[in-house]
Amino acid sequence: MAMMQLEIITAERVVYSDEVNAVVAPGIEGELGILPHHAALMTMLKPGELLVRKDSDESYLAVSGGFMEVLDNKVIILADAAERAEEIDAERAEAARHRAEELLKTRPPGIDIITAEAALRRSLIRLKVTVRRKRK
Ligand code: ATP
Repeated sequence: MAMMQLEIITAERVVYSDEVNAVVAPGIEGELGILPHHAALMTMLKPGELLVRKDSDESYLAVSGGFMEVLDNKVIILADAAERAEEIDAERAEAARHRAEELLKTRPPGIDIITAEAALRRSLIRLKVTVRRKRK
C-alpha cells in the first residue's frame, strides 16, 4: 500500500512522526483528505479532529489550529497544540469545558468572549477525540 510521511509538530514537541496511508485534516475551508503523492498544498487548519490511517489502524488526534504543508509525499503539520487520543486527559478537558461554559453563561465584566469560545471549542474537540479512543 502506498505510504507518505506525516509529521505533526508543535512548539513543544514532535507529536507524530511516521509513515501513513491517509490523513484527513480540518482545513479552514473544510475537511481535507490527503493520500500518498498528493499535489503540493499549503493551508491553514482550524481546531478539529485529525484522522490518520496506517495499514488497518485508524487513529485520531485533537489539533488546535495551525498550518499544513503537503510536499514531496510528506505532510507537515505545525500545530498550536496537538494531542493523540490516548494522551488526552479527559478530566482536564471536561474542567476546561466547564470553565468556558460558565464564563460564557455568566459573562463577568472584562470577559474575553472570543477567548472563552475558543477554549470551549478546544475542550469539546478533545472530549470528542477521547470518545473515539474508547470506541476503538
Ligand atoms: P487548559 O485550560 O486545560 O490548559 P487549553 O485549551 O487552554 O486547556 P492549550 O493552550 O490548548 O490548553 O494547550 C496547552 C498545552 O496543554 C498543550 O501542550 C496541549 O497539548 C496540552 N493540553 C491541553 N489540554 C489537554 C488535555 N485535556 N489533555 C492533555 N493535554 C492537554
